[in-house]
Amino acid sequence: MITFDNVSKEYPDGTVAVDSLNFEIRQGEFFVLIGPSGCGKTTTLKMINRLIPLSDGTIFINGKKISEYNIHELRWNIGYVLQQIALFPHMTIEENITVVPEMKNWNREKMKQRVHELLEMVGLDPETYAVRKPKELSGGQQQRVGVIRALAADPEMILMDEPFSALDPISREKLQDDLLRLKKNLKKTTVFVTHDMQEALKLADRICVMKDGKIVQIGTPDELTKNP
Ligand code: ADP
Ligand code: ADP
Repeated sequence: MITFDNVSKEYPDGTVAVDSLNFEIRQGEFFVLIGPSGCGKTTTLKMINRLIPLSDGTIFINGKKISEYNIHELRWNIGYVLQQIALFPHMTIEENITVVPEMKNWNREKMKQRVHELLEMVGLDPETYAVRKPKELSGGQQQRVGVIRALAADPEMILMDEPFSALDPISREKLQDDLLRLKKNLKKTTVFVTHDMQEALKLADRICVMKDGKIVQIGTPDELTKNP
């Protein structure tokens, strides 16, 4: 569970990106942050795994302040997927996926199994793709690897910042379907940033609508479409 208690963020240049946020993301929930460009979505996301510091307020994960976690422990337990996933170009797909498991000293056999299982989950044949280099995959396939890489070490939660926005509409829809399947299988607490309402309605358990650094509305897709 992630709790925002009066969280604000002012950048050094005086921009108030996020203003007094109060909300809770429940265990196992798929929570979507939506709103126009510049409304504070990315800032909100990046504060959760301490990529940027808060100016005010407190974020708790499972009741413990994020500032009290060991930074490595925090980052390892939170998978992070960016808009432009950057796979390591000189490593194979398998090596890319096992970066965090390696750091956690998983044994070879366990890592092999995990890579196999994850590639299958997103419809990439492990025999074919595990040994390839990123440039031998299409953009959509690389993005899928980016998503499963974030899941590799079985983190408690996962943050995604417009992970599909660079893709063509067909790849995008495929990946949304993959993610729906992953969501059902894994039940991970997920915070997903998008500016696409169709995407939000398709994926979310709850949607948080932001504007100018504030929350306008939080509700299930049903609640939002009934009271737009
Ligand atoms: P979104 O993800 O919704 O597009 P952001 O969180 O990226 O919004 O940005 C929120 C506001 O904070 C915007 O006005 C943006 O220009 C500003 N901002 C983001 N990052 C910085 C930064 N490093 N320094 C100053 N202002 C920033
Ligand atoms: P996003 O797609 O995540 O909103 P942006 O293109 O807005 O990304 O920002 C890219 C990077 O530039 C981020 O690290 C963000 O913090 C930073 N940034 C965004 N707006 C500003 C700003 N007004 N001043 C300084 N840095 C900014």
